[in-house]
Amino acid sequence: MDWLVTDALAPIPNDLTAPFFEGCAEGRLALPICGSCAQPLWFEQLVCSTCASTQRTWIDAALCGEIHALTIVHRRQADVIVATVPYLVVDVELDTSHHLTMSTVEPSIEGFKICDRVEIGFRNIGGVAVPAILGIEKEDTSS
Ligand SMILES: [Zn+2]
Repeated sequence: MDWLVTDALAPIPNDLTAPFFEGCAEGRLALPICGSCAQPLWFEQLVCSTCASTQRTWIDAALCGEIHALTIVHRRQADVIVATVPYLVVDVELDTSHHLTMSTVEPSIEGFKICDRVEIGFRNIGGVAVPAILGIEKEDTSS
C-alpha cells in the first residue's frame, strides 16, 4: 500500500502512455519525443509543435531533474488520500525538458526548494510504478 494514495488512484495506461508505465516498471523514465526533430512531446501530443511531424519515438531520460515548482499539500480524503502528514506535489523539469508532476518516494516535505536538483525513483500505486522524488541529487564528484 502506497503511503500517499489508495490503489483506486492507480494510473490506467493507455495507447499513449503504455511505454511510459512499462519503463517505470523497469525503473526507467521512457518519454516521447518527435521522431523528426527530437522536440519533447506531451504524452497526448500526436503532432510536433516545432516541425509538424507525426513521427513519435521514445527515449529514456536520466533519473534526475530540477524542481521547477512545488506545493505542500495538507489534505486527507477518505478512500483516496491516505497520507497522515503534509506532502509535496512537485513539477520536476527533466534534462530532456519534459516536465513531470510527482511527490516523494517517502513522506518528506523538508529540505526541498525550487531549482534543487533531485534524484527520481518510483512509488507503487496498485501495482503501477510512478515516478517520485528520491531526494536531493548527490554532487557528482567524478570530474
Ligand atoms: Zn518535430
